[in-house]
Amino acid sequence: MSNDNKNKATAPATSDTAAPASNFLRAIIDNDNAAGTYHRDGMPNVITRFPPEPNGYLHIGHAKSICLNFGLARDYAGRCHLRFDDTNPEKEDQEYVDTIIDSVKWLGFDWNDSPEQGGASHLYYASDYFDTFYAIAEYLINAGYAYVDSQSAEDMAANRGDFSRPGVNSPFRDRTAAESLDLFRRMKAGEFQGGEHILRAKIDMASPNMNMRDPAIYRIRHAHHHRTGDKWCIYPMYDYAHPLEDAIENITHSICTLEFQDHRPFYDWIIARAAEGGFFKQPVPRQYEFARLNLTYVVTSKRKLRQLVEQNIVSGWDDPRMPTIVGIRRRGYTPESIQLFCERIGVTRSDGWIDYSTLEGCLREDLDPKAARATAVLRPLKLIIDNFPENENVACTAPVHPHHPERGNREFTIGKELWIEQEDFMEESVKGYFRLFPGNKVRLRYGYVVECTGCDKDENGNVIAVHCNYFADSKSGTEGSANYKVKGNIHWVNAADALEAEVRLYDRLFTDANPDAGGKDFMALLNPNALEIVKAYVEPGMKDVTPDTRLQFERHGYFVADRVDSAVGKPVFNRVTTLKDSWGK
Ligand code: ATP
Ligand code: MG
Repeated sequence: MSNDNKNKATAPATSDTAAPASNFLRAIIDNDNAAGTYHRDGMPNVITRFPPEPNGYLHIGHAKSICLNFGLARDYAGRCHLRFDDTNPEKEDQEYVDTIIDSVKWLGFDWNDSPEQGGASHLYYASDYFDTFYAIAEYLINAGYAYVDSQSAEDMAANRGDFSRPGVNSPFRDRTAAESLDLFRRMKAGEFQGGEHILRAKIDMASPNMNMRDPAIYRIRHAHHHRTGDKWCIYPMYDYAHPLEDAIENITHSICTLEFQDHRPFYDWIIARAAEGGFFKQPVPRQYEFARLNLTYVVTSKRKLRQLVEQNIVSGWDDPRMPTIVGIRRRGYTPESIQLFCERIGVTRSDGWIDYSTLEGCLREDLDPKAARATAVLRPLKLIIDNFPENENVACTAPVHPHHPERGNREFTIGKELWIEQEDFMEESVKGYFRLFPGNKVRLRYGYVVECTGCDKDENGNVIAVHCNYFADSKSGTEGSANYKVKGNIHWVNAADALEAEVRLYDRLFTDANPDAGGKDFMALLNPNALEIVKAYVEPGMKDVTPDTRLQFERHGYFVADRVDSAVGKPVFNRVTTLKDSWGK
């Protein structure tokens, strides 16, 4: 099922000056530009749009569409519209509008959000076009391209036929235009209940394409709309509204996922009819489809994500284990890493799976040159330096970033009692283990060389403290240090100045690579170890860390101070990802 490797496209150059990787959409745009298809007065040659329905939170799949549409507009000096496809009042809400706006902005894209500073805002709402949709519908009725059908829903479904059987014309199909128009106006006036009548395009009930068998274009819904209130009780169907929205906004390349390929004939049909009626001028938009993003270990269906939230499997839409943009952001991903990911996976017309590790790799690539280094001991064990002077703490320094000396140093101290990782001590060593065991010497990174002498245990035999002696002339950065050659080098914090912190270690939310695949019960595939909370000790400088700060804890990976729960002086860190890909190996 998974063909991860095939999809791990070779890395494109990531510098700003590199040409973007080519793809079939760029080839189409290049052709259109060469042919002058969209050379229109005062308008760019490329106008794309990202058209979410405000009925949920955006997820990593949407990010692909956002990066694609805004990215093409940017690269071709065009523009991209953020448009809310808000034609389905029952499921939509302002809460979703707000989070979608936030997420697109956070990803780094701009639709001219501040028109007061010049230029037009390119934020649009389909509900602003309801009058135009309605006028076009009346035109279609008058022109003989649409009729009001009064069959029951059951009859309509039965008469639609199926893939092997042509549909049957509705007994209302040959109603006069005047009669349809009268009924349609009364539908709008609120004289009927939902389902009593419906407006349909008159195309071909025998078409091999089911979407062309007189599709419904307007239905009665006595529902409150989050923007138009109770003004309307008829609402346009998605397949009718969407192409018209594109045409109204002078979109050039309307890019959507492959499942809309069979809807394209109707897309073209409806725009052509409305253009015939004088509503639009040539050139009109054209639709192009690309393969949606499928990411391993992730579900992106809105229904399934909602189930995870509502059944408290996760703490909310922004739980760091969620593939929502708000979740990924809280987890610690950067907008740059998501953009890099979307560029790297590319766009094609064939479905495939992208391995989750590709996303993690993009984060590492983005953060490695940027993130400040710090020390954290996640599973602490006491190390006592028996020959270290009582109550003395000696200053130590380490670079903020090993490749950027200009970023300066971190300061901390070393004293008699330290915290080290439990895994850095073994009472009985094994072959190839170079860390602490009785008789062995290691360097305490940025500090001294110590020799392990033994350990203390509790009544159950658990190690509760490790003992050692240090060599006073071995301090890192001093001349004497060169005389000590040891194989092990471990990290530590001074118990006297370390800060206690909560650390949240996240892992994949599912144990199965394809939890979304047909027939699988995704709720049975949850990873019970997707979150482990540990009490850690971090170096003293961490007391100043502000929420959303990203760091590399040496040896442990990339972390972020949680944007919700972390506070100055009381940090809470989320692990974004480990330093190396360790999953599934
Ligand atoms: P719904 O099931 O509610 O329609 P949706 O995921 O399609 O959910 P929309 O708000 O309609 O949500 O999506 C906005 C845009 O994002 C659409 O153009 C859609 O094609 C695109 N999109 C959604 N999911 C993905 C995905 N996994 N990969 C790429 N693009 C996607
Ligand atoms: Mg959709």
